[in-house]
Amino acid sequence: MSSTDSLDSSTQARPLAVGAAGRLNTRPVQVRWGGHSVQVGGGAPVVVQSMTNTDTTQAIATAIQVKELAQAGSEMVRITVNTPEAAQEVPAIREQLDRMNVSVPLVGDFHYNGHKLLTQYPECAQALSKYRINPGNMGGGKKRDDNFAQMIEIACRYDKPVRIGVNWGSLDHELMARKMDENSKRSTPWPAQAVMRDALVVSAISNARRAEELGLSPNGIVLSCKVSHVQDLITVYQDLASRCDYPLHLGLTEAGMGSKGIVASTAALAVLLQQGIGDTIRISLTPEPGGDRAREVIVAQEILQSMGLRAFTPMVVACPGCGRTSSTVFQELADDIQAYLRRQMPVWKDKYPGVETMNVAVMGCVVNGPGESRHADIGISLPGTGEIPSAPVFVDGERTVTLKGDAIAQEFQAIVEDYVERRYGRKVTA
Ligand code: SF4
Repeated sequence: MSSTDSLDSSTQARPLAVGAAGRLNTRPVQVRWGGHSVQVGGGAPVVVQSMTNTDTTQAIATAIQVKELAQAGSEMVRITVNTPEAAQEVPAIREQLDRMNVSVPLVGDFHYNGHKLLTQYPECAQALSKYRINPGNMGGGKKRDDNFAQMIEIACRYDKPVRIGVNWGSLDHELMARKMDENSKRSTPWPAQAVMRDALVVSAISNARRAEELGLSPNGIVLSCKVSHVQDLITVYQDLASRCDYPLHLGLTEAGMGSKGIVASTAALAVLLQQGIGDTIRISLTPEPGGDRAREVIVAQEILQSMGLRAFTPMVVACPGCGRTSSTVFQELADDIQAYLRRQMPVWKDKYPGVETMNVAVMGCVVNGPGESRHADIGISLPGTGEIPSAPVFVDGERTVTLKGDAIAQEFQAIVEDYVERRYGRKVTA
């Protein structure tokens, strides 16, 4: 019997209990490198991850991009391991990262030949902290089962967790054919889309159960079911979460470029995260030509921070501007302050614990400016058209100084720095 026959569409749903951290109860999975461990699931904060787009055979270029993603806040980074040459370079990438004091765990992304690469390159198997396995890309029938078993045996041997990641673009054809056949025998057949969604969930869970039968700890399994449409993703993950307690990796695959990719990812993930579903997220943005790969990390952080699930960097509240705005000064100030705050975070996060929760308001005129600024930890209300050319500053809800002249931006930044030092600086006790 194939592993995918061992679970049918009527698997009992589990009661969905949201724990103290606002997440559904899932098993904890540790993803380790050296003395560093990232917990996925088990009530841990939602983990941000990303993926490189460098050629893995270019070890230095890949290590540099991994470092950039980690510095932007990616807590795990996935790299493609698609050829013997790529597998050969994985230990060199790891060593280069260790030399740069970058302890972020590396996840190997395998398709088609992962069983061979992990067997033939044991140093690659050891250097990776987690393996991504796509059961839909491992051949068919007995060959698929053997290849899957080989990868799980290696994960057991090296004590590595795996993500069993099914994707609707590479769904197990035999399973899908069987599901369509079963569906045709229903008195009221389901729509084809519903059959596909069910097949994704069944594929993920049945392969996870098979991995357990092969000896992998249930605390070493993360699941994902990637689709590229928002409503499909929501439905599939709600179903998946109700039918298992493995931690879930969320992401809308092939989300797209620019605002479309960000909006579609946010729309899907926000619904699920709000329901406590999802233990780690990746935003699959297509970078603009020459664009920054780390954008996907920032978007993931902003989704989590906007929803109040995690805090990564102080947030700037800024009004959109309108006909009352006399100039672009406030837009530039809002942009400069947000960029400045983000640049400081690698140092500030250790030096000023809690600073990531700070709110800064930059407002364009007197209509909402003072009110919004009072609600922020620190805020500035710039003058609109016809208003007196002065910018009152509010600290902890109280109006403090009023800035005037050409150096408002620099003076406001100095006020922010002073506030951070006073409020978040470690108190030295005698
Ligand atoms: S705060 Fe003033 S400038 Fe900003 S959107 Fe409102 S009315 Fe317009």
